Order: sequence, then C-alpha cells, then structure tokens
Amino acid sequence: MIERPIIEAQSIVKAYGLLPVLRGLDLQVVRGQFVALLGPNGSGKSTFLRLLAGLSRAEAGSLFVGGWQLPQEASAVRAQIGLVAHKPLLYENLTARENLAFFGRLYHLPTESLDSQIMQSLKHVGLERRADDLARTFSRGMQQRLSLARALLHDPHILLLDEPYTGLDQAACAILDSLLKEAHAAGHTIVMTTHELDRAASLADRIIILSRGKINYDVPTADLSPTQLSADYAAITG
Ligand code: ADP
Ligand code: MG
Repeated sequence: MIERPIIEAQSIVKAYGLLPVLRGLDLQVVRGQFVALLGPNGSGKSTFLRLLAGLSRAEAGSLFVGGWQLPQEASAVRAQIGLVAHKPLLYENLTARENLAFFGRLYHLPTESLDSQIMQSLKHVGLERRADDLARTFSRGMQQRLSLARALLHDPHILLLDEPYTGLDQAACAILDSLLKEAHAAGHTIVMTTHELDRAASLADRIIILSRGKINYDVPTADLSPTQLSADYAAITG
C-alpha cells in the first residue's frame, strides 16, 4: 500500500481582504522529506506555513496534515507540528528552561520527565550552560536555537521553519545547518522557507518556488546544481 502524504494541500485559496495571496496552491509532501520553499517577499510563504500549522484558515481548498483535516482538526495537527516562526516565539522575561517548561505544559508533556527532557534538548542545541538565563539576553542565533529546541520538544512529525537563517552569523548558520541535518536524518518532515538558494539546494531533498499564488516550480535537489537553481529562480520570479 502506498503511504498517504503527510501534507496534502489541494486548490488552497487564501486572501487578506481583497488581496488574494494563495490562488489554488497544490502541494503534497511525503513523510521524511525536506522541502525548501522559496519565493519573493510577499509571495505567501509565511501565510502558507501558518495554514499548515493550523494557525489560520483558508477560504477554499482542502488541507490535510498528518491525515488530520484543517481547520476542523487543528488541535490534533498542532500536536504534530513544530514551528520556528520568523520572529522567535519566546517569552523574553523567562529563562530558556522556563520557556521550554511553559511550552511543555502547553503540550501536556509528562511532568515527571519534563525537566530532564528540557535539559536534554537545551544540551542538544548547545544552550545547557545558559539554561537559567533570560531569553532576552540571548543573541539572535541563541534565540533561534532555543526556538528550535522548543519546536522539537514534543517530538513533532513535522518541522516548519520560516526563514530560520535570517540574522544569523556564519557560525550560527553552521550550527543551524547541522541541527537541521540531524532533524532530517532523524526522520522529521521539514518545510523551510529561505532566501538562501545554496543552502536550500544542499540541505533539502526538494525545492519548490511559490510565486503568483501557486507552486510554480518543483524539482528534486538531486537533479539540480546551485547555478541551475539560481538561474531557474530568476526565471520564475523575475
Ligand atoms: P512571504 O512570507 O512570502 O514574504 P507573506 O505570507 O508574509 O509573504 O505575505 C503574503 C501577502 O499577504 C503580502 O502581501 C502581505 O502583505 C499579506 N499579508 C500577510 N499577512 C497579512 C495579514 N495578517 N493581514 C493582511 N495582509 C497580510
Ligand atoms: Mg515570510
């Protein structure tokens, strides 16, 4: 039997007032795939990730995530999703540990093991020594790593990342590269928006480009050189 795709979006329409953003978007993603979602500013990448995360609803079309239907089964979907939003969803006046504890309770993670799970995840992203420092004292790179720890804390099937490299220096980018490679190898399905074409080509299995409200490009990275990708990107979005 063929496994059902973990993400199934069909003819998705999303508008803000009179402004149509998604105009019949179709996308299927199989479990474990790493998809890089590219597209110019304002093309609707964040809008689409928010729909996938069950944080907003489409005007038309059908959307299933992990076999659950959106928006009807949004809470079941949210339990399977880890989101690293463009702006880190952190409480600035809580410590790293408290941020994760808050999130863990929100997701009803077992309280007996929560503390050790939190320390393990902070260690995983290299923040164990900063566990009791306030999130607002963290650099952008550290906040991104804490966001990733938070997104992975409930071991979600799907990881959604919205421009996670923005504002990071070379060293922080390299750390994020290895954390994403690890998440991919561990079998998480990943959808990441980015403007970094080379990074997309090297990390992802598949590149899709959103423009004029639809996916206008869908190519496996195995068939793609970085030069080819930037030429294709310019042609599609130009
Ligand atoms: P991207 O992430 O690709 O840059 P967005 O999904 O953020 O694009 O935005 C797509 C379009 O929708 C833009 O024109 C943006 O101004 C508009 N938009 C996004 N969010 C809202 C909102 N909450 N209210 C009104 N318009 C919005
Ligand atoms: Mg965006």
